[in-house]
Amino acid sequence: MAVMNFNEISRVPLWHDHLADAPELPEDLPRQADVVIIGARYTGLSAGITLARGGRSTVIIDAEDPGYSCSSRNGGQVSTSVKPTLEKLAKKFGLEKARAIRGEGVSALNWLADFVAREEIDCDFHQCGRFHAAHTPEHYETLVRDAELMKLREGIESFAVPREDQRTELGSGSYFGGVIFTRHSSVHPAKMLREFLHIALSAGATVIGKCPATRIEKLGKGFRVHTHKGIVEAENVIVATNGYTTNVNPRLRKRVIPIGSYVIATEELPAEVVDELFPTDRIASDTCKVLYYYRATPDRKRIVFGGRVLAAECDPVEAAPHLYKHMCRIFPQLEGYGLSHAWSGTVAYSFDELAHTGVHDGIHYSLGYCGSGASMASYLGVRTGQKVLGLPEGATAFDGIPHPTQLFYTGKPWFLPAAVSYYRWADTR
Ligand SMILES: Cc1cc2nc3c(=O)[nH]c(=O)nc-3n(C[C@H](O)[C@H](O)[C@H](O)COP(=O)(O)OP(=O)(O)OC[C@H]3O[C@@H](n4cnc5c(N)ncnc54)[C@H](O)[C@@H]3O)c2cc1C
Repeated sequence: MAVMNFNEISRVPLWHDHLADAPELPEDLPRQADVVIIGARYTGLSAGITLARGGRSTVIIDAEDPGYSCSSRNGGQVSTSVKPTLEKLAKKFGLEKARAIRGEGVSALNWLADFVAREEIDCDFHQCGRFHAAHTPEHYETLVRDAELMKLREGIESFAVPREDQRTELGSGSYFGGVIFTRHSSVHPAKMLREFLHIALSAGATVIGKCPATRIEKLGKGFRVHTHKGIVEAENVIVATNGYTTNVNPRLRKRVIPIGSYVIATEELPAEVVDELFPTDRIASDTCKVLYYYRATPDRKRIVFGGRVLAAECDPVEAAPHLYKHMCRIFPQLEGYGLSHAWSGTVAYSFDELAHTGVHDGIHYSLGYCGSGASMASYLGVRTGQKVLGLPEGATAFDGIPHPTQLFYTGKPWFLPAAVSYYRWADTR
């Protein structure tokens, strides 16, 4: 067993190990395109694939190199997640709209499973199911009741696992049972992103890295996008910047709450340890307000464990000992095993916990996936591309819903440390 030295941990996401080299991208920004997409990750690339295949000259720019951003550093858990319940949405929008919004979560997962199969994408996509673990006995009751309702009203398949049977699903005694969502899936996030990039390039899109947009200027017809690599004019612009949204679009920035999420990966573990912890190879998460999410890697050699442990944003290596402590609380079997990697990324929350996509002032956008964008970002990227193409399939249930902000909020969530501290305290009760 390794002696733990947190300072020796790599800050590069585990997912980048053994990843094939990124394709070489052109340096020069074209001066003209039909569409410019800002953000070259799940949202931007899937929109770009749709547009390039639809015959539009498409330029996708990103402030960073291909490996950066949420899309290559997430937990690789693919869900049907739309955070607000049907009841909550029905109170706000009426039952029909609420059903349609919740249904988008299912559509997103179905779309991704289908796309991966159809395009033969090599990304370890596995429909393994999720064990959603109850943090308290009361949570178990609520979880089972809610899952039953979701099955009846929304067709979301699940089954309950009481505490006495829990170890057949998860090698932990620290929960009070849980619910298996059978269709939730796992994916290798960085492989998926790399494949999206290859598909976008093969479709004919131009992808430019290290090219931050600094301003979107509205013209009589179309837009001029100013970047560090010059100016490009286009009829349409899509903003696909999620948790990294800047003042390039101040309206969107005021509607995005950027929140850091932190992940650790263990060193390689004996096969019997991984088999004991994840006997059915499902992904897992829990019902804490500040939840933990974890899984075995596709090769079943390591555990990847994520969550938010400190109130303020910090270096991932600073968060690592805290995450490690909680991982060992849930899985005492891991005590003494070392960590190899610790990393973080920035997710985008919205004030109503819904994803938002649409057009404002002629600018298309899609963002605010609230930590569950592996399928939703990719799916809404496609829908955004279809909207720009003028196709009716581009319509989504998120269209036209209000996109809230808060008075005086400018994009810096000063309230976050207090909120995280409060929720973490609530989780200990
Ligand atoms: C640690 C972590 C764990 C997660 N785990 C999961 C999970 O298990 N399951 C799940 O479903 N989701 C998860 N997520 C969320 C998921 O990764 C995101 O929702 C998804 O990747 C969003 O994709 P995106 O393309 O919209 O945005 P991103 O991948 O964040 O990409 C946005 C891009 O925009 C670029 N950009 C920003 N501003 C500009 C500019 N001015 N000019 C040019 N480019 C710009 C950025 O450089 C960035 O590359 C996790 C996220 C993190 C950080």
